[in-house]
Amino acid sequence: MPIMTVLEESPVLVADARSVASESLRDESRDAMIDRVREIAQGPLARDAERIDRQGHYPRDILEALGGAGGFGAHLDGNGTDFIGAIRAMTEAGRVCGSTAFMMWCHDVCGLYMEQSGNAALMGAKLDAHARGATMGGTGMSNPMKTFARIESMLLKARAVPGGYKVSGTLPWVSHIAKNHYLGAVAAVVDAGGKVVDDQHEVMFILDCDAPGVELRHCPTFSAMEGTSTWSVRLTDVFIGADRLVADPVRPFIGRIRAAFILLQTGMGLGVARGSIDSMWQVEEQLGHVNEFHDDRPFALQAELDDLTARIETLALTPYATGNDYLIDVLDVRAHASELALRAAQSALLHHGARGYLMTAAPQRRVRESHFVAIVTPAIKHLRKEMARLMTPVVPA
Ligand SMILES: Cc1cc2nc3c(=O)[nH]c(=O)nc-3n(C[C@H](O)[C@H](O)[C@H](O)COP(=O)(O)OP(=O)(O)OC[C@H]3O[C@@H](n4cnc5c(N)ncnc54)[C@H](O)[C@@H]3O)c2cc1C
Repeated sequence: MPIMTVLEESPVLVADARSVASESLRDESRDAMIDRVREIAQGPLARDAERIDRQGHYPRDILEALGGAGGFGAHLDGNGTDFIGAIRAMTEAGRVCGSTAFMMWCHDVCGLYMEQSGNAALMGAKLDAHARGATMGGTGMSNPMKTFARIESMLLKARAVPGGYKVSGTLPWVSHIAKNHYLGAVAAVVDAGGKVVDDQHEVMFILDCDAPGVELRHCPTFSAMEGTSTWSVRLTDVFIGADRLVADPVRPFIGRIRAAFILLQTGMGLGVARGSIDSMWQVEEQLGHVNEFHDDRPFALQAELDDLTARIETLALTPYATGNDYLIDVLDVRAHASELALRAAQSALLHHGARGYLMTAAPQRRVRESHFVAIVTPAIKHLRKEMARLMTPVVPA
């Protein structure tokens, strides 16, 4: 029987054929996007990676180009919720420059907050400009994420006023921001006397860095990530109106986006690991006869990276799942990506020897970048704490 006749007669087959066709269309457009991102990463980004790291150069032009290439919007529902594409794009950048991969993550999650807020004022043209990289936004969520995990307490406080809230406090370090940028942040709601009335009530909002009452202060020098435009953000009675609100209350919203937030970060770890493996192969012909005595050889690391990538990409098909087991898996792949980046970066430096120890060498830069992947919230210790909590059976009273 001709295939069309079979399809006409079977609604199930028609649905299957359509879904295969749309999958392959998506694969094609994802591959094209990744090709564009790779071209930027291997071209202008590779040329600027040292300047970004050593001179603290913030690569706005490259970030805009990455946005224009589709590297910032794949994961958004409006673009097909393609988390695999978003993670692969970040990996391509991270392979060359860990700072840029981190800023892509900052930008991606800021877009996620805007879209998932359901607030029309943060969506539409504003979200579109964000996804294209025409405007830039970061995330100040370390402190709330650690607060919800009972590691620290909320640094921002919000007082209800007519039409919204007035927010005060300081976030010690927020990246990928500047005067005309914005960031996602959370504040604990307090009463007129500044006291927390309900310790479960917070508000989440998009903060404009040039709003009255916002001050960006310089941070101390970091050992890496100097080009990420990282600032201490001080707020004094900053008015947040309904047009800036992402969530009120915050905890159900965070419960919904938490896995997506963490999963996207794996692109940084995969990228640093991948770049380290690239570096190892570069010296194989010359130094393979002695490097063969190292642990963590490139082919073994590549096999581990491929397995981890496959696990991540399976989880990335359902980024808004909320089950306990799913979340444990997401935390586990994020921790594994950090650990693999640490091991791969260290091994690449050992493979390169003195040439990798030069201040201009990519392997020593990646060692410092891998440390950042491991300490940025959720840090490895935070991930392990959360996994332990989720795996502890609740004993009925
Ligand atoms: C380069 C860089 C960029 C970052 N970008 C962002 C960002 O974009 N958004 C964001 O939300 N967070 C950002 N962070 C914060 C980061 O995610 C972590 O929250 C932070 O590194 C502290 O985590 P921790 O696990 O060390 O905290 P813990 O070990 O739990 O430390 C406890 C507390 O001590 C504070 N602390 C430790 N050392 C110092 C110090 N020398 N000076 C002042 N306070 C200190 C920490 O801030 C923390 O509150 C950035 C950090 C760095 C280093």
